Amino acid sequence: MSRPVLSRLLAAALVTLSLVPAWAQDNKVLNLYSARHYQTDEALYANFTKATGIRINRVDADDAGLLVRLKSEGASSPADVILLVDAARLWRAETDGLFQPVKSSVLESRIPAQLRSTDAGQGSQWFGFSTRARVIVYDKQRVNKTDVDTYEKLADPVNKGRVCTRSGSHPYNLSLFGAMVEHLGPAKAEEWLKAVNGNMARAPKGGDTDQIKAVASGECAVALTNSYYLARMMRSEAPADRAVIERIGVVFPNQANHGTHVNIAGGAVARHAKNREAAVKFLEYLASAEAQTYFANGNNEWPAVRDVKLKNPALEAFGDFKVETVPVSTIGRNQVPVQQMLDRVGYR
Ligand code: FE
Repeated sequence: MSRPVLSRLLAAALVTLSLVPAWAQDNKVLNLYSARHYQTDEALYANFTKATGIRINRVDADDAGLLVRLKSEGASSPADVILLVDAARLWRAETDGLFQPVKSSVLESRIPAQLRSTDAGQGSQWFGFSTRARVIVYDKQRVNKTDVDTYEKLADPVNKGRVCTRSGSHPYNLSLFGAMVEHLGPAKAEEWLKAVNGNMARAPKGGDTDQIKAVASGECAVALTNSYYLARMMRSEAPADRAVIERIGVVFPNQANHGTHVNIAGGAVARHAKNREAAVKFLEYLASAEAQTYFANGNNEWPAVRDVKLKNPALEAFGDFKVETVPVSTIGRNQVPVQQMLDRVGYR
């Protein structure tokens, strides 16, 4: 083989090597930055790929980690879709310009207005796909239900030495506390946080499931948890989980007044998405009956889409309840003052 022919072949081979793989052509790949930490979501992503041929590259981190990463990557970020598990973080990312508006008749018709960001004529910046309630669990042997039927009562002297929570600074708590600032006003909310912290059975640690288990073990008597962690244990057949569920009661707080705090898990198209079309398709898929059923039955969340049929004994056992209606933007804006209150009262 002559040298020119060889070098031409070599050049052709190099060009071939540098080409994007076949599946990545034609928008057939989607870069997903996800804070959803639920094993059951795997099947959801696989089904999307099966239905559309679009492959998903996933980056997993918590909400805060993803936002830091997006900011530092700037315009060169490969992120197409961002999934977060807290309303205030969705609001923060929107405020920081990390999303872009999406106009989609599918999303507009399926996702209720209060579960997506305000549409300023160009579409919404983010869409909620599922909701979860922040409920109180208690030890039926030690605590009367009426001692814990409001969030306010977590601060009551009757609950001295009983209360357990994960870190006050966790997004689930920051959002609940941000809503409480709206209900009580800042001064009373800070007093409340101080008294809740003073009622602790132990220093905050672990996740929500750890709090549930600590109530059942007797180390704590009252705890806060997201509903899906509780539902997961309610549906478990493991004897240890059965024993936990036997011992604890659950309260959907504040049913007589402002309702129970509910948080939103949702998604958005990244500001600098390179695969915008696939990204919108993915969000629309998350609003489909199939995906919505999956959130409800796989991860025990309430679907955002109203007419989705549930087959979930735990969610059925929870039944209907009054949901708090504090705007997401209010909860978002309250995050920084709440963190400062936590620092002042020593609620770690
Ligand atoms: Fe969670």
